[in-house]
Amino acid sequence: MTSTQAASPAPQAPRVPDRARDFSALVGDRFVTAGERDTLLRNSPAHGVPVSRYPRATAVDVDAAVTAARRAFDEGPWPKMSGAERAKVLLRVADAIERNREELALIESLEVGKPLSAAMREMGGSVGLWEFAATLARHAYGDLHDKIGAGMLGLVFREPVGVVGMITPWNYPLLIVSQKLPYALAVGCTAVVKPSELTSGTCLRLGELMMECGVPPGVVNLLVGEGPDVGEAICRAPGVDMISFTGSTRVGRAVGRICGESIKRVSLELGGKSAQIVCADADLELAAEKVTMGATRNAGQACVSGSRLLVERSIAESFTARVTAKMHAIRVGDPLDAATEMGPLVSQAQYDRVASYIASGERDGAVLHRPADAVVMHRPGEAAAVPQPAGAAVSSAASLTGGNWFMRPGVFTGVTPTMTIAREEIFGPILSVIPFDTVDEAIAVANGTDYGLAAGVWSRDINKALSIGRAMRAGTVEVNTYMAGVPELPLSGHKQSGVGHEKGRYAIEEFTTLKTIHVQLANP
Ligand code: NDP
Repeated sequence: MTSTQAASPAPQAPRVPDRARDFSALVGDRFVTAGERDTLLRNSPAHGVPVSRYPRATAVDVDAAVTAARRAFDEGPWPKMSGAERAKVLLRVADAIERNREELALIESLEVGKPLSAAMREMGGSVGLWEFAATLARHAYGDLHDKIGAGMLGLVFREPVGVVGMITPWNYPLLIVSQKLPYALAVGCTAVVKPSELTSGTCLRLGELMMECGVPPGVVNLLVGEGPDVGEAICRAPGVDMISFTGSTRVGRAVGRICGESIKRVSLELGGKSAQIVCADADLELAAEKVTMGATRNAGQACVSGSRLLVERSIAESFTARVTAKMHAIRVGDPLDAATEMGPLVSQAQYDRVASYIASGERDGAVLHRPADAVVMHRPGEAAAVPQPAGAAVSSAASLTGGNWFMRPGVFTGVTPTMTIAREEIFGPILSVIPFDTVDEAIAVANGTDYGLAAGVWSRDINKALSIGRAMRAGTVEVNTYMAGVPELPLSGHKQSGVGHEKGRYAIEEFTTLKTIHVQLANP
């Protein structure tokens, strides 16, 4: 062994920081530090210690941010730059996210409670979104009409919509901002962004990276604060031309109302109650794996969570048993432990909400399957089975000192389509199983909620799968896969899951508006 080999230290496992990290908001060309304002403190939901401090934006900050974004849009240079120049900047940001992937993933793991490995994967997803959006910067152009009559010319300009207010939720902080921001920037918009006050760290860190990458001052402004305060002020600001909102249907409705008052363009990406339809002729092992993943990824706190399993009656019992076994094998524990597959829920409020849905399911007569030995708590160097009564928090995880918001995945059987747990978004690791006899019945049940965000179909018969997919009232239907989203494919909600669309080349339409110049030439 050489001396160099002997000296190389073993990689350090990520650790919970000794003190909270300070993040700065971005207003125009100025970083507003945590010490300059009232502070919002974020505790790690897994470890119960403060990990992040953000400056709480004031009304003056909101005004200044909107003014800066307005000026950057009206006076340039950003909207006036060529698409190629904007693309270069966006690619530099993609590269910066890639280079800082581990740091960003750690911030999200600590703030959201998601396993570090999952956060790392999501950072990769964010890089892909910035890279893809960069390609669109060179494709956001208009049309020329020269066949509309003698001497007539029609010029259709595709113009950036202007200043976009972006409001995002806590579950996928950087990923969801990356579904909006680079696409809006690609076509020449400027932005005022308010991430969730629970998980603002990566978005604020992105602000620093963007400035280093040459995003001109004022083009992106980042504020932290509560929704009814800072979020609503952004929605009401006359200097904001459009609101791009991702969050609950309840808040989306309020945001839509505010935007309606001033006829402001609004796009809403909202909640879901997605069904996975499993036919008897499917690859059942793969389906069981993805149904499990679809119900438990991010502790079930995903808008596209496959929270309903509709399974053909002939295989219902055996398939449900297979999924239940996989759900119960999921290792719940410290998000920083490489062996952990699921962390805690994000907050006490979220824990209470999921617990109340569990109680509602049991009251309605559904049966929850969550055996006592289901949980394997993991801390670095330690693993222990933690028996708990159904519905209880994993309180013996006290050594993790979190808010005690760990929850084991559970499967409800005996569910009928009219039960609350079959209709409302639970947003936790709880799956409701409903058997079906015919494909038509499955489609009717799948479509029988107010939501229409996503769905999954499992069958080896691609004709059957496609015809089910076409009958689903959902923005995205995945066949023989789940949560496989890519930057090229759009995300849109049908029914009360939203209006508008994100990602894909269609995002150009989302953040642009058309202007026609119709010319009668002098000498036709
Ligand atoms: P919320 O609707 O509670 O919050 C979303 C954002 O809106 C947060 O930044 C919040 O601020 C802000 N907000 C709250 N009240 C107002 C208001 N009156 N005016 C303006 N902004 C406001 O959602 P959650 O954060 O709890 O996220 C979970 C929800 O998001 C789920 O329903 C999920 O389905 C949905 N979602 C949808 C996705 C999609 O693509 N369709 C993707 C991911 C999640 P703050 O929290 O800081 O107070």
